[in-house]
Amino acid sequence: MPAIGQTAIDVHAYQPRSRANGPGTRFVLWFQGCSLGCPGCFNPDTHPAGPRRRLAVAELIALFAGQGDTIEGITLSGGEPLEQPDAMLALVSEVRAHTNLSIVVFSGYTIDEIRAMPSGGEILQRIDVLIDGRYQAARRIGRGLRGSSNQHIHLLTGRYSMSEVEATPEAEIRIDPQGRVTLTGVAPLRLKR
Ligand code: SF4
Repeated sequence: MPAIGQTAIDVHAYQPRSRANGPGTRFVLWFQGCSLGCPGCFNPDTHPAGPRRRLAVAELIALFAGQGDTIEGITLSGGEPLEQPDAMLALVSEVRAHTNLSIVVFSGYTIDEIRAMPSGGEILQRIDVLIDGRYQAARRIGRGLRGSSNQHIHLLTGRYSMSEVEATPEAEIRIDPQGRVTLTGVAPLRLKR
């Protein structure tokens, strides 16, 4: 694994506090870059690889710490977090080593595909909850953290129960102090209707 000081993540965006991306209040980090090309993906701006904004793992750890006890965990989404495996492993390793934050990950790769990646097993060992699989528009459900019914929720530690994970609200509106509005969650488009 590269030294933490040399490791950075190509970030699409982040939201310091969200209630619609896993249990409780969570810091959400959307990775930039996804090659999977699911038809109907509602966040195509995340697809191009390459830096939109590059943040060092150490900077991200400081951002998490800056939230104090207002968050109980982090959620990594995208884009595709597993397409930056070295940086992802560095991030989840630091979170596990220095915080008590829980870790939820959304990935378009299945858990078997992740296990087959060079760093996949180490990453999975450091995650509490994984929601896996490509988004399939024809099987859309948009609830319980699953965008489509082919996706699965994997409880990789005993930190959460399935009912706690599935109780996550499907959408939220957040308005920052500058008046910028962000729609998040597994079915944010419902809020636009
Ligand atoms: S894996 Fe996620 S970000 Fe990538 S195309 Fe599929 S739905 Fe979109």
